[in-house]
Amino acid sequence: MYSLPQLAYGMNDLEPYFDATTMELHYSKHHQTYVDKLNAALTETPELAAKPIEQLLKEFDQVPAEIATAVKNHGGGHANHTLWWSILAPPSVGGANNPSGTLFAAINTLCGNFTTFKEHFSTQATGVFGSGWTWVVVKPDHTLEIVTRPNQDSPLMDGLNPILGLDVWEHAYYLKFQNRRVEFITAFWNVINWTEVEKRYTAAVQ
Ligand code: MN
Repeated sequence: MYSLPQLAYGMNDLEPYFDATTMELHYSKHHQTYVDKLNAALTETPELAAKPIEQLLKEFDQVPAEIATAVKNHGGGHANHTLWWSILAPPSVGGANNPSGTLFAAINTLCGNFTTFKEHFSTQATGVFGSGWTWVVVKPDHTLEIVTRPNQDSPLMDGLNPILGLDVWEHAYYLKFQNRRVEFITAFWNVINWTEVEKRYTAAVQ
């Protein structure tokens, strides 16, 4: 059975960038629903429910056709949001405020410099039509790429390792920002836990 991850911060700790009400609803309602529906889909296949969520999605071709859509949507939703909470941090007490080390070098290889990287990522996030995510992924050759995916489709299903993600579903920002997705994206850069992103990068390139 899958369950919500414990958070390393309180719901109001990301203020004023992300508001507590959105954080609370996003975690205890939206993410919980993905978890519940994933568990419900896997009641007849305990061998699948025993896999770590990332493994379940990497091995998506082993999921029976009759529950494939549910696993893609709700398993993806669970994996994506588990990463989401982990790469956020309060601006004052979180991890590093900027990438460093080998991750910083890889970002520079991809985009030339960090400012351009932020611009490219933000442009892709702004351009997602409808509900979806923008990701920084590590490819099999260990280079980075910025990609988008619709709905809750996980890059893990495509052999990519996500290390940073931005949820641009309206439920992630509508209460505070209404239709102003660009302002939400701008706020996002203030609450990223780069220590966690670097940890994920290091693990992905080993
Ligand atoms: Mn979400």
